[in-house]
Amino acid sequence: TGTLNFNPIFTAPGVKGKLVTALSENEGTVYDFILSLIHQKPEMDSPFVVLDLGVVVGLLEKWSTNLPTVQPFYAVKCNPNSSLLGALAALGSSFDCASKAEIESVLSLGVAPDRIVYANPCKSESHIKYAASVGVNVTTFDSKEEIQKIRKFHPKCELLLRIKPPQDSGARVPLGLKYGALEEEVPDLLQAAHELGLNVIGVSFHIGSGGGDSRAYHEAIAAAKTVFEVASGLGMARMKMVDIGGGFSSGTQFDDAAFHVNEGLREYFGNEEGIMVIGEPGRYFAESAFTLATKVIGKRVRGEVREYWIDDGIYGSMNCILYDSQDVTCGPLACSSKPEDPRCREEKTYISTVFGPTCDSLDTVLRDYLLPELQINDWLVFPNMGAYTTASGSNFNGFSTSAISTYLAYSTSSIVGELQTMF
Ligand code: PLP
Repeated sequence: TGTLNFNPIFTAPGVKGKLVTALSENEGTVYDFILSLIHQKPEMDSPFVVLDLGVVVGLLEKWSTNLPTVQPFYAVKCNPNSSLLGALAALGSSFDCASKAEIESVLSLGVAPDRIVYANPCKSESHIKYAASVGVNVTTFDSKEEIQKIRKFHPKCELLLRIKPPQDSGARVPLGLKYGALEEEVPDLLQAAHELGLNVIGVSFHIGSGGGDSRAYHEAIAAAKTVFEVASGLGMARMKMVDIGGGFSSGTQFDDAAFHVNEGLREYFGNEEGIMVIGEPGRYFAESAFTLATKVIGKRVRGEVREYWIDDGIYGSMNCILYDSQDVTCGPLACSSKPEDPRCREEKTYISTVFGPTCDSLDTVLRDYLLPELQINDWLVFPNMGAYTTASGSNFNGFSTSAISTYLAYSTSSIVGELQTMF
């Protein structure tokens, strides 16, 4: 995270009463921002997250530099935080929605329905009817049964055939176990849609989410091209869209992924006119933009081992440890904000366990983790907590994930004016 500009903080549509609206004009890291929030409001409710909008802007710029021919459709499921959605909408991103509720939340930001792809290959009838009623007219499918439903409830909807990528990318979340037509199923599925008068405009795939081998994009783009050829062999209208799905991370993996995507597109679609390429990045935009601040609410000393309870856990934001196989990291707020401070660097550390707040022993966030001695009411901060975190938390034991507050920060001042005019 670069330099944060604390002033001004704006309120995005749909987020009410949870934002600090004005902070002092000091600058610093996201941890300084958290410290200043806490100092300003000592009664601050813990836990809370900080969304750094500068990170989002930077990632969008990086996307358009490295993947200039791919229009991003942010995958709302990854983190439906309305400030994030609002910023992405304002900055020109489109959206991948998986359900009626996700479509509603994107439309409520004033986004036009043609900036939404309904990228769920298996939809309930009522959700299809809703998509038809609001003019969301592009969706994915990978079965004949889905074609029947779409024919009945949204016959004008344009279709993307979701295929299973030929190469397993080894991602932490392999989606091919559940979705995607097999190569041998493609001709029948295309034929079935064609016979019912539905317009199959292209192909979609997802190589799997979280740390996959980026070469899988190249293979999947090749497979998409084969589907285009099969469709043309069946006398169908010329296909025009390739949806390369998600699977991107924001670190150096992104450069590698962009390389393989660009190579694949050049090799297989370079000579085709008028092809629209879209992607459905979720993790790429959400992960590094959010930092979670939690409070130590309990402590037990067992010999040299320190055990702490914090107020968020496996049933809350940290469900990503279970569902998304994430490795979370954390540090005491005081030292995260001053990593160079010798008092922090030289402080004795202890093997520590960090528990979540519920009464279930499964609710353990970290084991054998080195931390300095902490006291009740100290703050522990967790970076990179935006992807598949708050989106899938629960209210177990009465700890409501959806009640976690969001505070907004900027890490670049140049965008302040730009974004401010949009909210
Ligand atoms: N598109 C679809 C259809 C998905 O199922 C997912 C994640 O499950 C995504 C996009 C987002 O993937 P990622 O977060 O890896 O970018």
